[in-house]
Amino acid sequence: MTEAIEWQGEQIPIKRSRRKTMALHVRDGQVELRVPPRVPQADLLEFVRSRQDWLTRVRLEQARHQSEQPDFSRASHCPLMDRQLELVINPGPGNAWQLTEDRLYVSVERVEKDWVHAVMADFYKAQARFYLTEKTLQLVLKRGWEGRLTDIRFRRTKTKWGHCTSAGRIQYNWLVMQAPERIVDYLVAHETAHLLHPHHRAEFWAEVERSHPQWRQDRKWLHENGHRLFL
Ligand SMILES: [Zn+2]
Repeated sequence: MTEAIEWQGEQIPIKRSRRKTMALHVRDGQVELRVPPRVPQADLLEFVRSRQDWLTRVRLEQARHQSEQPDFSRASHCPLMDRQLELVINPGPGNAWQLTEDRLYVSVERVEKDWVHAVMADFYKAQARFYLTEKTLQLVLKRGWEGRLTDIRFRRTKTKWGHCTSAGRIQYNWLVMQAPERIVDYLVAHETAHLLHPHHRAEFWAEVERSHPQWRQDRKWLHENGHRLFL
């Protein structure tokens, strides 16, 4: 049985581990209390009480973020960098997409959110593969870092927009293709700079700035609006 405490009529599960401090975690409205091995229940309650305002704030923010995430099965348009594509969804055999000028045709067996989003995931991934690969290679060649780049991959991850390993493999979250082009370019500048500096210290940001002078404002945009890029 999972250990839990009751707080205002709600069961909050407790996860004990070899850690030194207590912390509340919230994801998708689900709360978990992470604590060191031998903290008594009374202290747990006291801790949750002290964090009550914070908890309310985080939950409200998460609920707001969720309400801002689009359901494309009911949408007339979808973003692709700086463009708003007209979205035409048709029921049909098989699941496929086709892009012509400013119109994206999506064919799905069932016109429901999950089905539509699955096809659109394919679409955004293909766009990312095309655009981000091109942009990354351009920048890497321009900066003379081609010897450091070994691979580019595309994956949807929960919390990260990009990643660069010490072996020179860059990974992008293809959902970024829903962001304005300057944001996509910032991400490319950020990850390629990691080919040189595997950290976020001053010399790393200096390198980002050489490729993308507006990095401060674009990093802020991604931080504040990232949750809207969704499928
Ligand atoms: Zn980074």
